[in-house]
Amino acid sequence: MTITPTLPALTESAAFGRAVALSCRECGERVELGPEYVCESCFGPLEVAYDFGKVTREQIERGPNSIWRYAPLLPVPVDVASRPNLNPGATRLVRAENLARALGLRSLHVKDDSGNPTHSFKDRVVAIALEAARSFGFGTLSCSSTGNLAGAVAAAAARAGLDSCVFIPAGLETGKVVMAAVYGGRLVAIDGTYDDVNRFCSELIGSAAVSYTLLTLPTTDRV
Ligand SMILES: [Zn+2]
Repeated sequence: MTITPTLPALTESAAFGRAVALSCRECGERVELGPEYVCESCFGPLEVAYDFGKVTREQIERGPNSIWRYAPLLPVPVDVASRPNLNPGATRLVRAENLARALGLRSLHVKDDSGNPTHSFKDRVVAIALEAARSFGFGTLSCSSTGNLAGAVAAAAARAGLDSCVFIPAGLETGKVVMAAVYGGRLVAIDGTYDDVNRFCSELIGSAAVSYTLLTLPTTDRV
């Protein structure tokens, strides 16, 4: 179904901020915001489309010292910072003199995302997916993962009071299993490769009996 995007009212009821639709990266088809990730016309990936209106630097600077500083640019409600979540982001920049010299640059800084709650950038995308899950009324966060995403999902769900169900390949190293298991969610080991786990999860998504949120946000939302 094609829709005409309109700027939602900027009130606390705007569950997805200034996001107005999902847009297919391949064919441009637009569909209503919803828990979808594949274009029904061409099977291309769906990305979030926005109508930002005016967002100022001052508005950003007034935000909290976390990813939610950029809430006006993300598909999240305006009161997102006050909701129970891990408040990731705002990690430090580390000056990398040696790498700068090797690359012929005057100055180079590297973002140290180990400062995130579960020590990886995955906490950012999971924080946004968590808000989407809440808005859609889902009670379980889920993903397939070989490590960092597993821990980020399990931790975010625990903080938000949701269930989590993480699918991993059997044989994953113990340290990564513990990183996810420590938060108390369900951990399911699939006898196969990561591709096998992903395929299994895709089949689960297609099952009417399952309403898990599988994390499929595009890279543009991983700020
Ligand atoms: Zn398409």
